[in-house]
Amino acid sequence: MLIGFHTSIAGGLPLAVKRAVEVGCTTMQIFSHSPRSWKLDDIPREQAEAFIKARAEAGISPLFVHTSYLINLASADDALYMRSIDALRTEMQRADQIGAEYVVTHLGSASSSEPDRARERVADALVRTLDGLNVKTDLLLENTAGERGDVGHRFDDIAWIIERTGISSLGVTVDTCHSFGAGYDFRTRKGIDATIKAIEGSFGFERVKLIHLNDSKHPLGSNRDRHENIGEGLLGLPAFRLILNHHKLRDLPFIIETPKASPEDDARNMAVVRRLVNKTRE
Ligand SMILES: [Zn+2]
Ligand SMILES: [Zn+2]
Repeated sequence: MLIGFHTSIAGGLPLAVKRAVEVGCTTMQIFSHSPRSWKLDDIPREQAEAFIKARAEAGISPLFVHTSYLINLASADDALYMRSIDALRTEMQRADQIGAEYVVTHLGSASSSEPDRARERVADALVRTLDGLNVKTDLLLENTAGERGDVGHRFDDIAWIIERTGISSLGVTVDTCHSFGAGYDFRTRKGIDATIKAIEGSFGFERVKLIHLNDSKHPLGSNRDRHENIGEGLLGLPAFRLILNHHKLRDLPFIIETPKASPEDDARNMAVVRRLVNKTRE
């Protein structure tokens, strides 16, 4: 199965692979730089090459690069908007440089009084970002919980944005915590099937290239985005057993983005997830 963590690149990119291997990742996600800074140093060629080699040797695939938190593709502020487009282009180029299959981005947020305008701005930003960009890395849009005007908490909104761009290569990351916050229930088989149906009726299931596997500190429909350890939140262990073994979901890559309060947290979450995977399938 494809299960991995969002993994730190502290100390250099090749170290991230080492960390991922240590907790048993078969796929992984990283930031290619500090996610809270606009300032980007180029990735030295030797770093990129060492990273690509280490990942190939570890057999970790696919690789996801998550974009900076500062990017806001829905911003009504023209300067921030243009800067965000520029930053996302750079994210795509950096990801391509280190051989990442996918970049994952949030869509941004805007005043909730103008949701239509916000969606338009996001779509136009995506077109500008990818226009003439020659990279092998594909872009995935992540659904949100709908906190404070965050764009893309309804699958229909993401579908609308993708349609407006006319870009067929755009994919989607579905985060279980965000979905739950947005009102899509993953706790029962019925809820999961209804959620998949909602995806099929919006942007289409074939666009889903990644599941962010996170429990939630807040209840269904709360529009809150606070991740919790697998099984310790309001989704709970039975939900994750259903998700990990669901015939439509189980072959997708799962990236876990649970809190890292102590160094053992990733190993513990991985052990929980592995235990939930039906033994008959292994
Ligand atoms: Zn996520
Ligand atoms: Zn989140």
